[in-house]
Amino acid sequence: MPIKVLPPEVTSKIAAGEVVDRPASVVKELLENSLDAGATQITVEVQNGGVSLIRVTDNGNGLDARESEIAFLRHATSKISSLDDLEHINTLGFRGEALPSIASVAEVEMLTNKSSTTAAAYLRLENGEIVVKEKRSRPPGTTITARHLFRNFPARLKFLKSATTESGHIANVVSQYALAFPCVKFNLLVDGKVNLRTSGDGELRSTVSELYGLETAQKMLIVESSDNLIKLNGLTSPPAVQRSSRSYLSFFVNRRYVRNSLLARAVDTAYQGLLMTGRHPVVILNISIPPEEVDVNVHPTKIEVKFRNNNAVFMAVEKALRQTLEKAPLTAIQITADQEGQALSLWERAALATAALPVLRTL
Ligand code: ADP
Ligand code: MG
Repeated sequence: MPIKVLPPEVTSKIAAGEVVDRPASVVKELLENSLDAGATQITVEVQNGGVSLIRVTDNGNGLDARESEIAFLRHATSKISSLDDLEHINTLGFRGEALPSIASVAEVEMLTNKSSTTAAAYLRLENGEIVVKEKRSRPPGTTITARHLFRNFPARLKFLKSATTESGHIANVVSQYALAFPCVKFNLLVDGKVNLRTSGDGELRSTVSELYGLETAQKMLIVESSDNLIKLNGLTSPPAVQRSSRSYLSFFVNRRYVRNSLLARAVDTAYQGLLMTGRHPVVILNISIPPEEVDVNVHPTKIEVKFRNNNAVFMAVEKALRQTLEKAPLTAIQITADQEGQALSLWERAALATAALPVLRTL
């Protein structure tokens, strides 16, 4: 075949494929937009694993009619305006790709209002094109609905798992953002039933209680540390609270939910010798770092980030967690007898009952 430039309808689908690979990625992008708009209340409704319907309603700073149309153009964003801004991102979004991508793989409606004194703008899009434009009423804020996700993409649809699994991924995304923003009231309705509800009272411990239960929440230890560049805050579990998977590790960089193996390794190192093999703690940690110290533009869905100084971040996390554990009251440190499969002697058990954590570490 001769070389040629692909037509826009093909390139838009290719671009959309990078941003939206499953219903949970639509939810993630819409949530990030609501949070960037300063919402304090966000409701997410999904049906049939998000394939039939995803609706995100917020009370943030909405758009006027003109802005609402621009929002669906590729690379339209209110969050950056120059190359220089790319080095100092302090919003969750910045690429201007989410809305056009979602609109090219689903039927989308947007109802948005900037103020309580004007009419709201309503738009309906099919195949990325605006097909209905109306004035409607709505208090300030934005509602975006995506229906029939991947209806015209049987190949993508085939890769989706059951509705239950897809809803699970969605619940995970909402949970992570609920942990990152304890001041925001989140509601998740799955097929009409409340799946998750947070109070938005600003207390991380309340969110943890709503997600992981009161008992875990009460036991969690406060992590707080600050050096000149890296500030850490969150909650971490005492060794008595153990999980069999790493899915209870939540890391946020400037409140952006990220996956990062370096941070997971720092946790492993901090808990070394305190947990049985194959067991993991519950950690919710926000890393506040100057935006120029982290590159958030390395992954299409922004789930991965790159730190300028990996070593400094690793050390800061490991140290903050270790110091938290060392300061923890002894009652929080009930070590199970069978550390790494080795039964402890009676003497060791007695030592465990009385010893301080540094002693435990040497056993
Ligand atoms: P980005 O978030 O990268 O800017 P998006 O495609 O996600 O790109 O959104 C485009 C623009 O639409 C945003 O920059 C913002 O101005 C506007 N927008 C999207 N969602 C909302 C919302 N829920 N509330 C207010 N404005 C929104
Ligand atoms: Mg966005």
